[in-house]
Amino acid sequence: MVSHCNPLVTHEAVYNFHDDATGVKAVIAVHSTTLGPAAGGCRVLRYDNYASAVRDAMRLSEGMAYKNALAGLPFGGGKAVIMLPENADSPNFDRTLMFQTFGRWVESLKGAYVTAEDVGCSVQDMQVVAGETAYVAGLPNRPGFAGGNPAPWTAKGVFGSIQALVRHRFDSDLKDVVVGVQGLGQVGFALCETLHQAGAKLLVSDINEQGPALAAQRFGAEVVKPDKMLSVSMEVFAPCALGNILTEESIPQLKSAIICGAANNQLATAMQGQQLADRGVLYAPDYLVNAGGIINVAAEYLRETTDSVETRVAQIPNRLMQLVRRSEAENTATNILADRMARDIVAAGQPAKVA
Ligand code: NAD
Repeated sequence: MVSHCNPLVTHEAVYNFHDDATGVKAVIAVHSTTLGPAAGGCRVLRYDNYASAVRDAMRLSEGMAYKNALAGLPFGGGKAVIMLPENADSPNFDRTLMFQTFGRWVESLKGAYVTAEDVGCSVQDMQVVAGETAYVAGLPNRPGFAGGNPAPWTAKGVFGSIQALVRHRFDSDLKDVVVGVQGLGQVGFALCETLHQAGAKLLVSDINEQGPALAAQRFGAEVVKPDKMLSVSMEVFAPCALGNILTEESIPQLKSAIICGAANNQLATAMQGQQLADRGVLYAPDYLVNAGGIINVAAEYLRETTDSVETRVAQIPNRLMQLVRRSEAENTATNILADRMARDIVAAGQPAKVA
């Protein structure tokens, strides 16, 4: 069953799906298709209620529109959210059937939305989706072409951005710079690896113990309790878990000069970007620095090579520093400037030429 509504002028469409047989529910939000098909991953999570899933999909799809616009990709912004059912941990739960059903929902939109993996799903899940629709990426590499897990590319763009910001703020490389990484999943762990290679000192936290224990063993990372992570002293804070962590209440606890991480929607609202700027914290807009994954996904979908992904991901730190310098010159918070630039690109209806 699908119902379609256009609840706000902010989005082109929001589709609500419900499968009576399996009980699976999903939301696909299409923010815009002016630059191309709405592209963005599929988040699989437990949500308290349907309204919070809709809100998440809508906010994430807007972020994807801005991310794709600033990265110069010929894609609009979209996002899918699957509400993980109550019985998802039971041995009888059929995950394959859930992704087959989702694949048919994606297919029903006839290419208006292109999916890939995000939090809670994997390359294997996307292979199941690919059995039902061609509007999917994040699949295993075909020889000579881009593809595969986007997370290492996301980590690469974030790492280069941290390096550039540290150079800008402290005029130094990463040796002995303290970086706190929140969330040691696919992106966070890969980020820790490169930060360690560059000589950074790592503070790590995760609600699961496994990732931090491995980071302590491999990279000499110091493990911090999840509820203490925001208030420990560090030069760089890299949020790589979930969003909505930089709130009016949490920001005064922060003891870091730079925030640069992969998590989507780190700021509770745009006001928090101003709050950080007022406190002298250099904030890297999440959707600008975490574009490596979608750059890889887009290249796979467009049948481009890994070399083209390498080139585009290497441009992320330059783009960030152009934004930072402009934000300093215009005395405007980085997130507000990034939103404005992205909206202008979407309104112009032409993918940006990026340098
Ligand atoms: P993931 O699911 O592999 O990892 C997330 C990790 O965060 C998990 O280990 C989880 O246990 C941990 N976590 C959750 N809540 C936490 C908390 N309160 N404190 C500490 N740790 C917590 O996801 P991922 O693919 O690594 O993505 C991480 C973030 O980056 C997400 O916000 C995602 O949307 C964003 N992102 C990912 C990609 C990508 O290519 N995977 C691209 C762009 C943005």
